Amino acid sequence: MHHTAHFDTRAVHAGQEADPLTGAVVAPIYAVSTYKQDGVGGLRNGYEYSRAGNPTRAALEAALASLENGAEGVAFSSGLSAVDAAIRATCRPGDHVLLPNDAYGGTFRLFSRIAAQWGVELSAVDMSDLESARGAVRDNTRLIWCETPTNPLLNVADIAAISELARGAGARFCVDNTFATPYLQNPLDLGADIVMHSTTKYMGGHSDVIGGALIVNDAELAETIRFLQFAVGAVPGPFDAFLVSRGIRTLGVRMARHCDNAERVAEMLSEHSAVAEVFYPGLASHPGHALAQKQMRRPGGMISFRVNKGEAFAAEVCSRTQVFTLAESLGGVESLIEHPAQMTHASVRGTELEVPADLVRLSVGIESAEDLIRDLEAALEG
Ligand code: PLP
Repeated sequence: MHHTAHFDTRAVHAGQEADPLTGAVVAPIYAVSTYKQDGVGGLRNGYEYSRAGNPTRAALEAALASLENGAEGVAFSSGLSAVDAAIRATCRPGDHVLLPNDAYGGTFRLFSRIAAQWGVELSAVDMSDLESARGAVRDNTRLIWCETPTNPLLNVADIAAISELARGAGARFCVDNTFATPYLQNPLDLGADIVMHSTTKYMGGHSDVIGGALIVNDAELAETIRFLQFAVGAVPGPFDAFLVSRGIRTLGVRMARHCDNAERVAEMLSEHSAVAEVFYPGLASHPGHALAQKQMRRPGGMISFRVNKGEAFAAEVCSRTQVFTLAESLGGVESLIEHPAQMTHASVRGTELEVPADLVRLSVGIESAEDLIRDLEAALEG
C-alpha cells in the first residue's frame, strides 16, 4: 500500500497484505517458535526462530511504522519493556537523562530504580516549561524523555522545541505517544528520534492485551533497537501481536469517537457546580490549549477534574458511576474512572510528583455521549 495513503486507510491496511500462502485477508496468527530450513541456513523469508522474527509480529511492526511515519517499528511485550529498550539504546553508565516530573509512574520507577543502578543519572523537570528543561540539560545529557499530554493533568510539552533542545545538546529525544496516539500527533514529524507506545492503551483499544513499541527513522538507531529486541527477548507473542494489530485497524474511528465524547463530557464538567477545575487540552482555560492546537489534531479522550468537596467526595464519585467502570488503565472502548491519589498515583503521595487529592481521572470511551454525561451527572449529585 502506498505510503501517501491517508491515516484511516493505512490503519486498516498497513502490514495486512493478503497472506502469500492462502490469500487470508488478515495476517494469520503464526503460533510457532521455529521454522524448517531448506538445507542448513536455507531460511524461508528470513524466518529462523520467533524471538528473532515472527510473521504476525512483523505485520504489527509494519503497521506501527506506517502510522507513526517511521522507517521501522519494533514491538515489545509491554510498554515498559519498550521504555527499557529505549534506555539501553541511548544511555551508558555516566550518562544523564531528562525526564518529565509528571512522567508515568512506571517509567519513572524504571529510570530511578533500575537504570540508576547501572549508573544512569536522572533529573525530573517540568517539560511543559521549556526554560526549566533547557536549564536542566548537562554536558552528559544523552536522552530527553517526554510524554504529552501527561498523566493525569494533561500538561502539554512542545515537541518541536524540545527536539531542537535535544539536537543542540547531542541527546536523543523520545516521546511517549501513548495518550495522543498517531491519530492525533506524530512526534517523528516534529523532530523526535524515538516514539514510544504502551500499545496496551488506545492502539490495542479493547483492554485485552499488554504490549509496547518503539518507532524510529534513523537506520542506526533502528538496528540497535532491533538487536536489543532479539538479545534481551522482551517480544510479544503472536496472539498478543494479533490483538494489537486488530485494534489498530479501527484506531481512526475509535479515536474520532473518543474525542467527540470527551469534548462533550469536558464541556459538561466545566459548567457543573460540583466541579472545581477541569483539565482537558480542548478547553480554552487549559494552559496547554494553544500548543495542543498547534501539534495535535484534536484534544484526545482523557480528562481529569477536581471536585469542590474534597478527597472523600472524589472517591465517592468514582465508586458511584454505572457506565464508567472504576479501574486503572485507559484507552479502551469502555469508559473508565479512577481516583489518582489513591490508585494510579498513590505511590507518589508526599513527593514532588503528588497529584491533587480531589482529582478524578476519566478515560472517555466510545459509548453514547448522552449516557456518559447522565452517568457522571448522577454520580456528582451524590
Ligand atoms: N506510558 C504511559 C503513558 C502509560 O500510561 C503506561 C501504562 O499505564 C506505560 C507507559 C507503561 O505501559 P505498560 O503498562 O504497557 O507496560
